[in-house]
Amino acid sequence: MSRRVVITGGASGLGLAMAETFRDAGDRVAVCDADPAAVAAVDPAIRAEVADVTDEAAMGGFLARVEADWGGAEVVISNAGIGGPAGAVEELAFDDWRRCLSVNLDGAFLTCRWAARVMKGQGAGLILLTSSVSGLFGFPWRTPYVAAKWGIVGLTKALASELGPHGVRVNAICPGAVEGPRMDRVVAMEAAAQGRSEAEVRAGFTEGVALRRFVTAGEVAAMALFLASPGAAGISGQALAVDGHTERTT
Ligand code: NAD
Repeated sequence: MSRRVVITGGASGLGLAMAETFRDAGDRVAVCDADPAAVAAVDPAIRAEVADVTDEAAMGGFLARVEADWGGAEVVISNAGIGGPAGAVEELAFDDWRRCLSVNLDGAFLTCRWAARVMKGQGAGLILLTSSVSGLFGFPWRTPYVAAKWGIVGLTKALASELGPHGVRVNAICPGAVEGPRMDRVVAMEAAAQGRSEAEVRAGFTEGVALRRFVTAGEVAAMALFLASPGAAGISGQALAVDGHTERTT
């Protein structure tokens, strides 16, 4: 049966990979994203709107339109996130800290609040949140992002307990470093913050991974598709890593 799938930050990167994977599985997919150019480029078979996840009114409008047209959703993926600043904690600006927590956590709250109401009414559903290996380890120089992604795991655990009795599953996916432009930006930012070359920083990432490579967006999307499948009906409250087995962080 075709599922109704809502994804935030779904116009590029992992969100888009997940949107295209569910589309290819025959599902109806709606995404929102803060980047109008990326939204305009999304396949018209995927419903795409501009909305910033930190903007309560904009998110309320997007979700209300989906609900009015579709009546609900089987899968809601709170995925929008930003990497935040890199640097020694004493040098970070409060505004950068707040922005990182806001996009990653306020956005998840607004998305999950809607999903919880809709799915409790349905008596079924899956909420997926994108955390990170940064939600499983304590990476240095990335304190706002790490705090936000551990927060996502906490939100996942609490919501799984709260919504489980209503038939709603809640899980977090924790991607490791994903091949693509976002990791290219993170590597460049950390190299600048630490005074090291980009090659050194990249090697540092892969040396800490048992498979000695970054994962792909397709591998993360495959996990999302599995978690939405009947075979995953018993899985809730979990933070599942797709990370090539990340063993250390520096
Ligand atoms: P990305 O930058 O390629 O894509 C993120 C998308 O979210 C973009 O389209 C962007 O426009 C959108 N977005 C950003 N801020 C937004 C906002 N306020 N409201 C709505 N949309 C917004 O990044 P990605 O790698 O695809 O990241 C997706 C998620 O995966 C994030 O939560 C990120 O923290 C997480 N993650 C990424 C990696 C990685 O290596 N790429 C690893 C672990 C976790």
